[in-house]
Amino acid sequence: MAATASSGESQRRRRVLMFPLPFQGHLNPMLQLAGALHACGGLDVTVFHAAFNAPDPAGHRFVPVGDGVPFGGLLPSGSDADFAGALLRMNERLRGPFRDSLRQVLDEDEGGASACLVVDSNLRGMQLVAEELGVPTLVLRTGSAACLVAYMAFPALCDKGLLPPPSQDQIQLDMPLNELPPLRLRDMVFSTTTTHATMARCLECLLESARCSSGVIINTLQDLESSELQKIANGLGVPIYAIGPLHKISSGTESSLLAQDRTCMEWLDKQETDSVLYVSFGSLASMDEKELLETAWGLANSQRPFLWVIRHNLVQSSEQASLPDGFEEATRGRGMVVSWAPQQDVLGHRAVGGFWTHNGWNSTLESICEGVPMICRPQFADQMINMRYVQEVWKIGFELEGELERGKIEGAVRRLLCEEEGREMRQRAKDFRNKAVNCMDEGGSSKTAIDLLLKRIMSF
Ligand code: UDP
Repeated sequence: MAATASSGESQRRRRVLMFPLPFQGHLNPMLQLAGALHACGGLDVTVFHAAFNAPDPAGHRFVPVGDGVPFGGLLPSGSDADFAGALLRMNERLRGPFRDSLRQVLDEDEGGASACLVVDSNLRGMQLVAEELGVPTLVLRTGSAACLVAYMAFPALCDKGLLPPPSQDQIQLDMPLNELPPLRLRDMVFSTTTTHATMARCLECLLESARCSSGVIINTLQDLESSELQKIANGLGVPIYAIGPLHKISSGTESSLLAQDRTCMEWLDKQETDSVLYVSFGSLASMDEKELLETAWGLANSQRPFLWVIRHNLVQSSEQASLPDGFEEATRGRGMVVSWAPQQDVLGHRAVGGFWTHNGWNSTLESICEGVPMICRPQFADQMINMRYVQEVWKIGFELEGELERGKIEGAVRRLLCEEEGREMRQRAKDFRNKAVNCMDEGGSSKTAIDLLLKRIMSF
């Protein structure tokens, strides 16, 4: 059914404008949301995108923004990159070009078909442009609700003198934060390369974007984060729409920036149920050559089947990661390496029994929705926060801490795939999977939130 204005003969089709952050973990949920609004509400979608990391338009109208803007050095890569600094620069550089593009789209708009702009919460600059041109905005948070609660607490922790941490003392960094259980002080240090001032500015913009919006859309579900969602609703004073898991409403597979190697699905078909460890660290996290070596031997020595994603830029300062001599023979028939996987399908395959992840929110949520427990190896940004919830709150995984070392990896793989403790984690993860299915049913929390969101959009 197409979404149209309810009154009058002129049944005009409504259009939603979107502006995702041009990184894989942000593009996926935004384009999944585009698919969901189209599928559930019949809305047309126009996606503005930066002139880099542009996904395949597939089905939606795409408007490039900032052609000719010098983005050299802007795109961060690797775990030690200053992502927060890059976000601030991106907002500065895209603002002017976006004003021109948005004006043009609005000029072409027949009868005010554009209802609103859904903007990534990191793009406050684009929201300001929309405000200037009289377009209402909704904000998409692609991270967990827990992460937003932590960000909301950031200014108070600074006022208390806890952030930035007064020293690098490990005992102090392990200090539990009473206002944010189960987080510790160290979980609030988002990156070692980002200055405190940059981080503070970045989070200020993010919170401003949420507070100044007509509503915040979050890719999570009530059954997973009900108390965090309540805190957000109380603290922000705007409507909150917990409509996740978005990838279950709309796959948005076209948003993959890298070609997915599907041959691994046939390989998985030949493996036993719950036997395979899937290993992937998302689109940005990285490791050094020694860590790659230890990971390779840890997986080999575990004697368990594995599917390992080695992205072209996974290893810092190396174009082509090379696996150690003897690794292939040691793992033949039992291990598969691909450069990019169809992750949602992999996690949904009956053969996958565990996921060694960096705990990006998409990966974490995709794992939960398939009932797959995790070995957690967070590196930066919100990954530590997600790990703490996986380990301490949902109890569906555990952290692999400290220096990466083959013996420790082997132990972790066995703990997850072969021991009773791992089986219990898998059972809890499967219980969450069922909740994730139910919340999408008629009357379920996410389905209800989508209906409310559609109503809100139609009211603009
Ligand atoms: N992904 C994928 N193939 C891979 C690895 C990851 O399609 O081999 C997808 C994954 O399904 C997820 C996204 O890339 O949707 C990564 O997002 P996440 O938030 O987990 O991490 P980020 O890349 O932002 O660090």
